[in-house]
Amino acid sequence: MYDLRSRRSWENDDAVQFRDSLRRFLATEAVPRDPTWREQKRVDRDFWRQAGELGFLCPSLPVEYGGSDTNFSFEAVIEEELGYAGITSFGHAVHGPIAAHYILRYGTPEQCLRWLPGMASGELIGAIGMTEPGGGSDLQAIRTTARRTGDRYVINGSKTFITNGQNADVIVLAVKTDPSQGARGVSMIVLETNDLAGFRRGRNLHKIGMHGSDTAELFFDDVRVPIGNLLGEEGQGFIQMMESLPQERLAIALGAQATMERAIEITVEYVNERQAFRQTLMDFQNTRFQLAECLSNACVNRAFIDQCVTQHVSGGLSTVDASIAKAWSTDRQCEVLDKCLQLHGGYGFMEEYPIARMYADARVQRIYGGANEIMKELIARALR
Ligand SMILES: Cc1cc2nc3c(=O)[nH]c(=O)nc-3n(C[C@H](O)[C@H](O)[C@H](O)COP(=O)(O)OP(=O)(O)OC[C@H]3O[C@@H](n4cnc5c(N)ncnc54)[C@H](O)[C@@H]3O)c2cc1C
Repeated sequence: MYDLRSRRSWENDDAVQFRDSLRRFLATEAVPRDPTWREQKRVDRDFWRQAGELGFLCPSLPVEYGGSDTNFSFEAVIEEELGYAGITSFGHAVHGPIAAHYILRYGTPEQCLRWLPGMASGELIGAIGMTEPGGGSDLQAIRTTARRTGDRYVINGSKTFITNGQNADVIVLAVKTDPSQGARGVSMIVLETNDLAGFRRGRNLHKIGMHGSDTAELFFDDVRVPIGNLLGEEGQGFIQMMESLPQERLAIALGAQATMERAIEITVEYVNERQAFRQTLMDFQNTRFQLAECLSNACVNRAFIDQCVTQHVSGGLSTVDASIAKAWSTDRQCEVLDKCLQLHGGYGFMEEYPIARMYADARVQRIYGGANEIMKELIARALR
């Protein structure tokens, strides 16, 4: 079998070791618990602490903030290994590479010390709140307001589709500090949800896939937050989101790539076992052609993703390349999973088969982190 998991060009020896121990951890601690998480529609808090204790949360944070002082390549390893293990329940990307990194990048040293060590240990679970019921693609048009009165912001509005929303202790929230402005009126404020008056979590939303990942509506009714919870300066939120989204998009692309690779592995195994017309499914030319196309997609995409990780680690990943990585990888992921499911026949439609869960979980990858149509708009800007 073609080796889809060979060492990455961006992996050093420490990252390889980190990958091995994370793989063992997920196999023993996450995979057996995933059916329960899917049933209860959330990951248990103790798993976050377990992951944190072993250094599997926020490894790219500096040591003084609880991390291991590594770089994005270690976060990339986590996204890939979650993909290989089939774990979509654990909202690591939102917690680490997204929420924690907003705080690291735009927070003061005091703000970093207040929240990041808890996020690295798993005591605090992070979320990012951008999307609102009125729209997610058009982030300039958000309506949640934060009005300054004395030493507080008073927040009113609502968010929806927020990953980790049911569990989150720390939410990096996009708000309008100046509703008369579009993009220039947006700011990012950190919400500490514990005993926060006026803050309410709505339903844990019922989705067609990713059942173990909690996805929530959030409501803010005169929520008072100290002005010291503002990240950076007022009015900089839109720029901060645009600067941070490439990392989020690369994390999504890495998960897509790993899932694609795993789907091919399990499908190859299946078609070599399953018999029809006194031969294995692999004996049919159609099966071989379908899988050859899947493998070609995975290999070509892998080369681009690896290039993006290398660029990002050295600080040079462009918005355009991150958008290409996100849109292309997730489109290919959905294509590959569709072909792999088809080759499983009726069993591919049964939830107990990993391919069925992977197929359902994959669909949202083309929507969140910026819909793929928005990615194409961003990519097309490079053509002007
Ligand atoms: C499971 C899940 C988890 C999520 N997690 C989070 C989270 O943690 N935090 C968060 O803030 N958000 C989260 N989201 C929200 C997600 O980012 C948004 O759903 C996404 O950005 C699309 O926004 P929307 O749903 O409002 O769709 P809309 O903005 O209404 O867009 C609908 C469709 O219209 C098309 N469209 C829109 N604008 C354009 C355009 N300019 N050009 C061409 N076509 C266009 C696209 O096809 C798009 O898919 C999550 C969503 C889901 C489903």
